[in-house]
Amino acid sequence: MPNSAVRTESAPVSFAARHAQADAAGLRVGGLTRLTSIDFPGRLAAVVFCQGCPWRCGYCHNPDLLDAGAATDWSWAQVLAFLRTRQGLLDGVVFSGGEPTLQAALPSALAAVRRLGFQTALHTGGMYPERLAAVLPLLDWVGLDIKAPLDRHDALTGAPGSGLRTRDALRALLASGVSYECRTTWHPGLFGADALQALADELAALGVTHWALQECRVPEGMPFVISSEQMTHLSAQFANFAVRRA
Ligand code: SF4
Repeated sequence: MPNSAVRTESAPVSFAARHAQADAAGLRVGGLTRLTSIDFPGRLAAVVFCQGCPWRCGYCHNPDLLDAGAATDWSWAQVLAFLRTRQGLLDGVVFSGGEPTLQAALPSALAAVRRLGFQTALHTGGMYPERLAAVLPLLDWVGLDIKAPLDRHDALTGAPGSGLRTRDALRALLASGVSYECRTTWHPGLFGADALQALADELAALGVTHWALQECRVPEGMPFVISSEQMTHLSAQFANFAVRRA
């Protein structure tokens, strides 16, 4: 009779474990900004644009980065070679996209960058809360897009369930203690000022203290309009509140 304590099949490997094991060399890179002073607060940084995003926001500024399989002019090896020339000159490296957490190689890439002595930042839409939670120990700062109130989020991204995923990511981020900023790209054609206020109320109730309202490419003839009274009401709910317009 076989010994029931002996298991001959392989133990299932969790997604998180596979994610952690992926080689950084596999990171698909769509582009590189060699120097920025605005994408990682308080730091001079380079920005690595990760290729691929499964969402389809109508106002996406980086449509060339959406196709995960698209050919690019960059490799991870080229990025590393560049970063080695910037040791002691740059403070940090930002992983942006596209959606960086789409890629299993992200944790290894973050670890490699930290070994070179750089601080690390992530720009994400929060579409993979489990993957975000796994890389939070490797991050010094996160910019998390909160695209819309929960009841409008999925329509904006074209991805069912995306709003709930983003909220799970937000909870993980807030629980981690990692520095962050929540950001919302907005104009009145996306959703109205009342919905924007409802979003602010929701974020404040979740414990968000850093929120930025970002300018958007506004359709012709549609100004970025929010009254000073509404703005005062929005900003009063956050210890750190910013409005960014072109
Ligand atoms: S999540 Fe970001 S990269 Fe993806 S479609 Fe939306 S705006 Fe573009």
